[in-house]
Amino acid sequence: MVAGNTNVAIIEIKDIHKVYKMGDTEVRALNGVSLSIEPGEFVAIMGASGSGKSTMLQILGLLDTPTSGSYKLMEREVATLVEDDLAAIRSQTLGFIFQMFNLLARTSSTEQVSLPLLYSDPSLPHDDPKRLLEMVGLGERMDHKPNELSGGQQQRVAIARALINKPKLILADEPTGNLDSKSSEDVIDFLGKMNASGITVVLVTHEPDIATHARRIVTMKDGKVLSDVENPQSTITAPAKVESPTLKENLQKKWSFNFSWRQYQWRQFNAYFRQAFRALIANKVRSGLSVLGILIGVAAVIAMLAVGTGAQKSLEQQLSSLGTNLIMLMPGSLQVGGVQQGVGGTSRITLQDVDAIASVPMVKRVAPEVSSKVQVTYADKNWNTSLTGTTPNYAEMKSYQPIYGRFFTMDDVQHRNRVCLLGITVIKNLFGENANPVGQWIKINRVNFQVIGVLPVKGSNGFMDRDDAIVVPVTTAMYRLLGRLYVNYVDVEADSSDDTGPAGDAVKAFMMKLKHIPNLPGNDGAFQIRNMADIQATLSASTQIMTILLSSIAAISLLVGGIGIMNIMLVSVTERTREIGLRKAIGARRLDILSQFLIESVAVSVMGGAMGIVLGWSITLLVSKFAGWNTVVTPSSVLLAFGFSALVGILFGIWPAHKASRLSPIMALRYE
Ligand code: ADP
Ligand code: MG
Repeated sequence: MVAGNTNVAIIEIKDIHKVYKMGDTEVRALNGVSLSIEPGEFVAIMGASGSGKSTMLQILGLLDTPTSGSYKLMEREVATLVEDDLAAIRSQTLGFIFQMFNLLARTSSTEQVSLPLLYSDPSLPHDDPKRLLEMVGLGERMDHKPNELSGGQQQRVAIARALINKPKLILADEPTGNLDSKSSEDVIDFLGKMNASGITVVLVTHEPDIATHARRIVTMKDGKVLSDVENPQSTITAPAKVESPTLKENLQKKWSFNFSWRQYQWRQFNAYFRQAFRALIANKVRSGLSVLGILIGVAAVIAMLAVGTGAQKSLEQQLSSLGTNLIMLMPGSLQVGGVQQGVGGTSRITLQDVDAIASVPMVKRVAPEVSSKVQVTYADKNWNTSLTGTTPNYAEMKSYQPIYGRFFTMDDVQHRNRVCLLGITVIKNLFGENANPVGQWIKINRVNFQVIGVLPVKGSNGFMDRDDAIVVPVTTAMYRLLGRLYVNYVDVEADSSDDTGPAGDAVKAFMMKLKHIPNLPGNDGAFQIRNMADIQATLSASTQIMTILLSSIAAISLLVGGIGIMNIMLVSVTERTREIGLRKAIGARRLDILSQFLIESVAVSVMGGAMGIVLGWSITLLVSKFAGWNTVVTPSSVLLAFGFSALVGILFGIWPAHKASRLSPIMALRYE
């Protein structure tokens, strides 16, 4: 003990037991150890392998808690404190030196030495990393990484790291165990210098050569202190004067377990972010693959939403260009005597009925529609398309004035002339790009037709190509081509757009009367009236469903990407268990570890998200350019995809990060 020292003990343990349970058997690593160490001492703990030296040092260093017994560190009982409080005390008062150095891979010496500062209270005294590195003789090796340093140099970096927070106590577990004799001497030299400056040193070693430097030698055997003697041969000078260090009074408050943003500082976030980036770069392929998972998911979300929104937009445009005073009349179903019949029955509509509807008040004009899928051929070309049979009114009512040639006339209708107008998709497929088909003869379902005009370009809405169409006189369609007696629906134009409601009712009532259908509640569905607003609503609802469907598929791929991230993060946590242990040993709290891994997973997913947005957008542009679909990338879909990817990172990162933060420091350090 230091001569003439009247200080109270810096370490005082009483009757410490440590029992490791391994299944049914118990290992009594410490079996009632009592020891008191005063400030300024240089103590070596010796003993055979398995005698409990490391266990003892870990308890002294607050990396592990005793099974029973009391531990007063700087006059404060610490045996019962919770993990985060222990972390705070470690960071404030202790410096560790390990046999295995425990440096972070791919990290410069300066950063290694500064690492404990990340977890300590910046208002407490601390040293300068550069000064410390110069002190241990590594002024020239500041930017070197562990794989660029010799074992002795690595241990000197670790010594500098142990000193950064100006500790009162240095704990070293076999610090020379992996070193040659010259480097071992250096290490002992540094420990001696620290001790001379007033720092208490506790050194575990099994080598008598090393222990002989200490001023006090404690020998352990089977978890008990065998002997505790002063060493007159010690080469290390005792510090001239030592003070009794105390633990900061406000420790509990300052480092409460509760999360507080004031504690959580920007510098930490910044450092975690750099670390995350370094970890990602270190495992390029692995990170690349998990980025890819999110990338694909986000790109899919963006593209799907763009196509869906685009389809809806163009649908709205098309519908509004049709004019708002159009009504559609369709045969419905009829209940006679309680029996529901299929579509038709007496509610079928003939061409005569269509003419009759024109005389209903508030109705301006009408056009029948007969439609069917047909096969058209020209020379050796074949094409399947949709055919509409109608009357000349159709051209004006639905803006189908031909861009080339002419529409058919009433004369054509009366004579059932075999004339037709083609949409550009049909022309493209039968005649080729930019060909002029007017005047040519084609076959529709093997009947010869002359092309008299080209239909205006209507575009596609993503699901349906409206230029894939043929229009022929209604009579030709019904009697020459399809063999039908009834029309599919009737387009009715009201006098004004305000009249569509009453006009629809009037048309319906007229048809009921015309067909002698009694006005009973069961017959209400005999004829169906749709105005443009109804149609618009139905169609937007269906494109909306389509969009939701596509987006859910995209979301599922994002989910799969998230699971990929979780997988990678779990691997990463396992791989870096020792690193986590080291961080905890030098003062990291659970929140620090949690943040570090969470930031890493969010970085992966956000990176994937950003790249996914770019890719999704490009796909969207390609789709509109080559497929001709209308697509709209909205800011909200970009935000949604980005937010979703960040959320995926948090959700799927939280479990691995939580797992990492709960690792016990000593278990993590010992992990192999
Ligand atoms: P020393 O450092 O003196 O070689 P340790 O303190 O490491 O000894 O170990 C003391 C005893 O406790 C040994 O018998 C060892 O097998 C046992 N032991 C140490 N750590 C554990 C553990 N985590 N689980 C089970 N037994 C352990
Ligand atoms: Mg040991």
